[in-house]
Amino acid sequence: MKIIMLGAPGAGKGTQAVKIAKEYSIPHVSTGDIFRANIKNGTELGKKAKSYMDKGQLVPDEVTIEMLLKRIEEDDCGGGYVLDGFPRTIAQAESLKKSLEAKKQKIDYAINIDVPDSAIVERMSGRRSCPKCGASYHVSFNPPKKEGTCDNCGESLIQRDDDKPETVEKRLEVYHEQTKPLVDYYDSEGILKTVDGTKTTDEVFKAIAEVLK
Ligand code: ADP
Ligand code: ADP
Ligand code: ZN
Repeated sequence: MKIIMLGAPGAGKGTQAVKIAKEYSIPHVSTGDIFRANIKNGTELGKKAKSYMDKGQLVPDEVTIEMLLKRIEEDDCGGGYVLDGFPRTIAQAESLKKSLEAKKQKIDYAINIDVPDSAIVERMSGRRSCPKCGASYHVSFNPPKKEGTCDNCGESLIQRDDDKPETVEKRLEVYHEQTKPLVDYYDSEGILKTVDGTKTTDEVFKAIAEVLK
């Protein structure tokens, strides 16, 4: 099973991808998490990515595509994966398609989590993230059991630098310009499934599970 998560920043891609990965025993591959791990480890890739991420811009395609294609070649991806945060441009989608076609493979579903912009800023300002396992919480909508602590791994939760309102606005603009066209792209590929992302996390997951079964 190969799945792509689509949706605006804050739509709930990461939250749902974690649930899908658990349910279907496939890896959750998040390009944002890979970039953040590189920043934490001080790699060249991390330094390059950070300058774009801090401004709410996309990391250039050539860097991102190579990194992602390498990641899905790893052994744990042999039985499929759920991609969270990739592709974000038509060029990324085309490269992924080409690379899969060369191996006689294809993406099964592109799940689009639909949330209006008006709900996004509130979601992002309340988001708290686990820097160790990538889990995401919300101070009011999805609080951890113990305040400030990750339920999965016990790490202290942080607020991401790029979740400041100014950066969120830029990211939304970038989403509409560069990423939203992927909704039509995957619709014309015949694999688009849109779910209402304004429902509770459990209800959204139910709708996704319905699509995948
Ligand atoms: P969110 O969960 O809010 O959608 P992500 O963690 O997916 O955010 O991404 C954070 C940042 O990492 C993006 O704003 C962008 O700078 C960079 N990034 C992540 N994935 C990609 C991608 N596929 N292409 C380009 N940049 C990316
Ligand atoms: P994305 O990966 O698309 O950027 P996240 O999964 O990190 O989004 O979710 C963004 C924020 O919204 C987090 O604080 C998360 O806890 C919260 N959230 C996710 N899904 C829902 C939902 N269905 N209802 C309310 N809040 C949600
Ligand atoms: Zn954690």
